[in-house]
Amino acid sequence: MSSLPVLVLNSGSSSIKFSVYESAHGDRSKLFEGAVDGIGTDLGKFWIKDAAGKKLVDQTPALPTRAVAFALVASALHSSDFPAPQAIGHRMVSGGPTVQENQRITPELIDEMESYTAFAPLHTPIAIYIMREALRLFPGIPNFVCLDTYFHRTMPEVAKHMPIPDEYTEMGVRRYGAHGVSYESIVYQLEPKVPEKLIVAHLGNGASISAIRNGQCLDTSMGLTPTGGIISGTRTGDIDPGVLLFILRKIAETTESATAAADQLEIVASKKAGLLGVSGLSNDMRDLREAIKTGNAKARLAVDKFTWTIAKWIGSFVAELGGLDMLVFTGGIGENDIASRAEICAGLGALGIVLDPARNNTRGEAVISAENSPVTVRVIPPAEDLMIVNHVIRLMGK
Ligand code: ADP
Repeated sequence: MSSLPVLVLNSGSSSIKFSVYESAHGDRSKLFEGAVDGIGTDLGKFWIKDAAGKKLVDQTPALPTRAVAFALVASALHSSDFPAPQAIGHRMVSGGPTVQENQRITPELIDEMESYTAFAPLHTPIAIYIMREALRLFPGIPNFVCLDTYFHRTMPEVAKHMPIPDEYTEMGVRRYGAHGVSYESIVYQLEPKVPEKLIVAHLGNGASISAIRNGQCLDTSMGLTPTGGIISGTRTGDIDPGVLLFILRKIAETTESATAAADQLEIVASKKAGLLGVSGLSNDMRDLREAIKTGNAKARLAVDKFTWTIAKWIGSFVAELGGLDMLVFTGGIGENDIASRAEICAGLGALGIVLDPARNNTRGEAVISAENSPVTVRVIPPAEDLMIVNHVIRLMGK
């Protein structure tokens, strides 16, 4: 196999991100990456830049629909300016209980994954749409799905099982976890020296933590859906079920159908809660840090709730792992928010986690623990697209 351009597609609610990697003789190199952002607006962004960061496309098109947005991507990739992809890898949060292996995408597989939309209701519809469009617009090119749940398949039953009646367990309700492609990529980057007892905190708009033993997931904070676990930008994280019932009953007082009430509850728990809900200001850590500087007490509370919850989860994962060798921060907040890392670690000295404030005063890849810290603390950016390319190449060889 000489050179195999692989397209990676990673879609969000208002954006489609993509990158193309060249794979030759085991080496992978990024050729270019891009995004269409602002879907549903008159003034979107469409850009492509090469591996050196040079902008190759920089437009501000109207992006009324996903169809328009993805058509732009497809037509750029079909033009002679870029090498035609020979395989496509799709990031997918959850394929439900029956689709747990990364594999080649067929129309039937898409239908099957779509039937489990409730397991990642905010992410699945757009991913499914893009898969169908990719099969249509890139005919004859193999498409593969890479699941975030794949990394978490090694969790023991005690971690996976939810304390609910069996009839729901049999419907597939259990802990699946998310951000798996990010976790896999951290383990991949640590190879061949993956510590035995590792905790990774992926702190982005969505945030989760995983306990990893010998490179395999032992436990993770997100549950059936990405709304569970630690509090994140707009999501509650784990919460007393009574709170959800209270809100549901309130909503039901003014809502006609049970389904409409459930849909509204979902918006409250997934889009209006978390850092946004507590601060009443923003889901974005940068905004909250600015507001804290001006004495905004709600922003302070939101961030305290975030860092305190994460510290609690780290503590319980240390107990599960029976100790800790390394803690890794990743994701937009994990990589960039110096204060969050310091606040999370501040109370964890008893667990052997001691930051060096000078080393922590950095953004991007670094070792940030003190010289004498029993636990090494690192910042490592995720390499999710590269992981997807690796899976695609492996699956192509089958
Ligand atoms: P997503 O989950 O959407 O991929 P990211 O991993 O990009 O999100 O993380 C977004 C979060 O990272 C936001 O809360 C943002 O404020 C935070 N962030 C990004 N850059 C910085 C920075 N320089 N300082 C503090 N927080 C940052």
